[in-house]
Amino acid sequence: MKIYLADLAYMNPTVTRQPVPFNVACVASYTLKHLPDMEIEIFKHPDMLLAAVAQSPPDVLALSHYAWNSNLNHGIMKRCKELRPDLVVIMGGCNFNDWDHEWIEWFFRKRPFLDIHITQEGEGGFLKIIQLLHENGCDLKRTKVEDWSSNIFGYDHEAGKLIHNPGNPMANIDPATLPSPYLTGLLDPFLANENLSPIIETNRGCPYACSFCVWGGMGAKLRKYDLQTIIDEVYYIARKAANPTRVLYIADSNFGILKRDRQIAEAIMDCRSTHGFPQRLSLYSPKNPTAHSLDICELISPITSMSMSLQSTDKQVLENIRRSNIKHERYDDLRIKAEKKGIQTDCELIYGLPGESYESFLQGMVGVTRSGQFVQLYEHTILLGAESANREYREKYGIKSAFRYAYDIEGAYKDISSIEFEEVVIETKTMPQKDYFRLRQLHFLIATFSARLFQEFRHALKYNKLEIASLAGKIMEDEANWPERWRDILLQLQQACRDELITTDVDELRTEFSKEDLSEVRKKARALIPSSMCTLFAREGNMRELRGYLVSSFPRFFPGNSDEDFEDWTAALDFSMDRACCYDELKQTRVVTYPYDLDAWLGSEGQPLRDYALPEPATYSIELRDGVWEAFEKAKEAGSDLENAVYLLKMKYFPSSHDRIYYYLRPSKGGTAVNKDDEIESKREARLPLYSSWNTGGEAKPESV
Ligand code: SF4
Repeated sequence: MKIYLADLAYMNPTVTRQPVPFNVACVASYTLKHLPDMEIEIFKHPDMLLAAVAQSPPDVLALSHYAWNSNLNHGIMKRCKELRPDLVVIMGGCNFNDWDHEWIEWFFRKRPFLDIHITQEGEGGFLKIIQLLHENGCDLKRTKVEDWSSNIFGYDHEAGKLIHNPGNPMANIDPATLPSPYLTGLLDPFLANENLSPIIETNRGCPYACSFCVWGGMGAKLRKYDLQTIIDEVYYIARKAANPTRVLYIADSNFGILKRDRQIAEAIMDCRSTHGFPQRLSLYSPKNPTAHSLDICELISPITSMSMSLQSTDKQVLENIRRSNIKHERYDDLRIKAEKKGIQTDCELIYGLPGESYESFLQGMVGVTRSGQFVQLYEHTILLGAESANREYREKYGIKSAFRYAYDIEGAYKDISSIEFEEVVIETKTMPQKDYFRLRQLHFLIATFSARLFQEFRHALKYNKLEIASLAGKIMEDEANWPERWRDILLQLQQACRDELITTDVDELRTEFSKEDLSEVRKKARALIPSSMCTLFAREGNMRELRGYLVSSFPRFFPGNSDEDFEDWTAALDFSMDRACCYDELKQTRVVTYPYDLDAWLGSEGQPLRDYALPEPATYSIELRDGVWEAFEKAKEAGSDLENAVYLLKMKYFPSSHDRIYYYLRPSKGGTAVNKDDEIESKREARLPLYSSWNTGGEAKPESV
């Protein structure tokens, strides 16, 4: 029997972060262990799959299914069924509400070319259906439903009938018995592809069950892969991986939670010294960090940051989402310990969770940013398969959602044009819709002031126990005084946030698209927060106006502080503004003079700037990063106006560069331009979502079928 297994992705030219198809390779590896005579080929690129099907159609086409390839799968399976009508088409993955039969029937009706969907882990269910097909001449109709396992769902499209056998539960596999898809060479062709990044998994499951995340439903007990196999995989990948970013993904939900993770971390760091791989590590640290996990993070801190995700700080919200974070004091204690050990920590917060309001979210952000910790904000998106996708849950918390195009998750392959959607929460009982749009503006303010550019300004606020979230909150309340350009940027953002919502009715969503649809979406699609930031940075006048507005507002916003403090804040803001890359006045190098010892002050624990005055001013040559000038020249040729050119620079030429295009590098006194900023950014960038606008709703995305 010939089987094509694919983990399809939109392989756009700027994509360098897509993982190798590890998920389907695990399924293939497990199937071959039990049925070695099966002929299995693995695919990642839609064009390659289509070419293979045209040349030699398989008996079974199996596609991993997640929100980022759902419609693409639909287009591909339709084309493949046209080429071979008796093809058995299977999809598998957690993007499926397996508890809701009404929804499942709707799902199959929307996908008339789909025969089977396997839920939960793929290996067991897939092997079962392949065994049954093998015994029945690859005729699905001849298989007996009593033999199906409970994680296999089928649909008789002619009779309009769901086929399912709940009485035959399928146990999760023991990953330690899974032959490594790396060491068996299954993934070699993908490691050789410069556009794909290696990914390993060291255990499966998550001990937590956050309602917005699918992972919690995949088994609370952690099941471990074989330790030596993992270590061998790391060295194997180091020898074979062609991706120039030298990044390694770890797909675990909580890397560092197990004692033995220290051995894995040691092997990774040894491999880095001996083979130069990995140079960056993308992983999710344990939700509730411990002294042990902190030690592991210290070991790998040269190539990654430590995620300390909270998602919310509100007690009621945490209860609603079934999440128990560690106590506030313990969190702070661990964060301080981490910083002392030189570990960079990041926090994630999600707005739009049930029970969260604009005010409670802002309050939470104030607490997190007060410590100076970097905070990454996400909107609450609904993931199929998660508890929050469930009707009763939505009703209980008054969750209303809308759909939008998922930015950059689109493409055309042969004559298939495809686009994906994401479902975002726009209203709850505690978040009226107007507050959702305000939160989007607040998100922009936090993203802007969190940029490394504002490092000096943030440090000056620290002395007064203030932070950017309080400042952002004050700006949001100050609409009457917003200056003209600033107002335009914020109001345009709000309008764009409204305009991007296509519908609230899932039935209106299409699964098939034309080339014209695609070009329409491409014209309109914008990653809105980066787009607004690019508009801000496009012109020096915008930054000058923002500087003037902030300086004049300090006494109004924070009346309890002294004139001396305001002078310090203003001087620090000027240092930051000096480093801003304004693209209408771009220079390769600029010379700036400061009457302060900036490095000593930035290294201090929240001291006032005035204490670091120098007898003689220090002069710095600040520099544009390598490649920005040249890329911007190209972007200008392609962009319709300056704002659009800056946006292209960010999204096309520096797509996963976080905020690097917004500021000049300032060398440390006597140092080089490649300073600590780059090191910090690299670690942060390693954990950016695969797609620029994607919001996981969880700390990571399940990668397994
Ligand atoms: S959000 Fe994180 S901790 Fe919660 S269930 Fe998902 S993976 Fe586990």
